[in-house]
Amino acid sequence: MAKNIQSIRGVHDILPEQSAAWQHLEETVRSLLAEYGYSEIRTPILESTELFHRGVGEVTDIVEKEMYAFADRNGDSIALRPENTASCVRACIQHGLLHNQQQRIWYAGPMFRRERPQKGRYRQFHQVGAETFNIPGPDIDAELIAMTARLWQRLGLKNIRLELNSLGTPESRAAYRALLTEHFSAHEELLDEDSKRRLHTNPLRILDTKNPAMRDLVAAAPDLHDHLDQESADHFADLCRMLDMMGIDYIINPRLVRGLDYYTRTVFEWITDELGAQGTVCGGGRYDGLVEQLGGKSTPGCGFAMGTERLLELMQAQGIENQQTTTDIYMVLVGNEAIQTGMALAEQLRTALPGLQLLMNAGGGSFKSQMKRADKSTATYALIMGEEEARNGQINIKPLRDKDAQQQIMSIDGLAEQLQSLL
Ligand code: ATP
Ligand code: MG
Repeated sequence: MAKNIQSIRGVHDILPEQSAAWQHLEETVRSLLAEYGYSEIRTPILESTELFHRGVGEVTDIVEKEMYAFADRNGDSIALRPENTASCVRACIQHGLLHNQQQRIWYAGPMFRRERPQKGRYRQFHQVGAETFNIPGPDIDAELIAMTARLWQRLGLKNIRLELNSLGTPESRAAYRALLTEHFSAHEELLDEDSKRRLHTNPLRILDTKNPAMRDLVAAAPDLHDHLDQESADHFADLCRMLDMMGIDYIINPRLVRGLDYYTRTVFEWITDELGAQGTVCGGGRYDGLVEQLGGKSTPGCGFAMGTERLLELMQAQGIENQQTTTDIYMVLVGNEAIQTGMALAEQLRTALPGLQLLMNAGGGSFKSQMKRADKSTATYALIMGEEEARNGQINIKPLRDKDAQQQIMSIDGLAEQLQSLL
């Protein structure tokens, strides 16, 4: 016999029993973002590879080693999007959405990165994100953070801490970068392979290392905050004051640099200790240079992206139950005549009672086996029809959850009204 085909490594099915939790999260996010005045954008999963080379940065993990890029049949280089900020910027430039106007947009969908699969790290994963344009902040930075804080609260999530930093302007960052290169070059023998490579391409990323052997060296590195330009320092202080006034706790982490190249000034992460090594559930920040880098007019931008799988794993770890899908009615139909009459009746009921959750027995079966399915279906009532009821225009209503309630037989004429009063 041929071997069953399996899904590929690091990508997962979301099974019917899991999708209620996904929908709950998506619905909560959707309504929250609408309350803050954000509109949804849906960009393609396929983009030109060049978009990410220019938008994410050549010396990032994503571009260096994680991208799913391939030659199309005509030779064009195409990539499965590894993130969606670059795509949002591309779309906004392409459709003229940044001309003298502000934008608040959000997206949700799958992203693709060829990482080593492990808990909380997959090759196809999902993000929900928001992006804002033409608002220099720090008010919008604070709004984005407040919005995520409110989302955790709505979802019932606890123990997620906010870490915050400012990367300054590209100029102050360049000066700081020179200091960093000097510091790490003086101890080159202590650097791991990744860090050696980054030393001359992207030394800030060394601060982001997860290698415990390098902890002391990183701790001894010069502090970015001592080298911020005045405007960035003021911007950051204002952001902190707004967070204070909104009652949002945060930790300033001068080592927080984030993986992507495009950040300027504000960067932040929401982190939990309850998911092991993959504890960052949301990351974001300001990217004032990105629009210009992708060919648009210089435009401030700020946004975040959160990992849907990690949030769902955290909800599960914290015992947050998602509502079970339920159904109102299971229709038991025994015999051909009952099946025919019952099908038409079911459609009439759906017309008369929009929103009615009615599960019709399909595929026949004995009375007993159908009642078993009815029981399993979580339905509140079974509607039961056999040959005799079908001939007499009658149907039985049997309460399935209330042990004391009685089954009753009635004419199908008044059934819709009867169900309306019962449900
Ligand atoms: P990490 O440091 O964990 O690799 P990152 O800096 O690469 O994260 P971002 O590109 O900022 O992550 O993406 C935002 C969020 O998307 C992350 O905080 C995380 O919750 C989620 N995420 C990123 N990569 C993955 C992945 N491979 N699998 C599952 N979720 C992911
Ligand atoms: Mg990563």
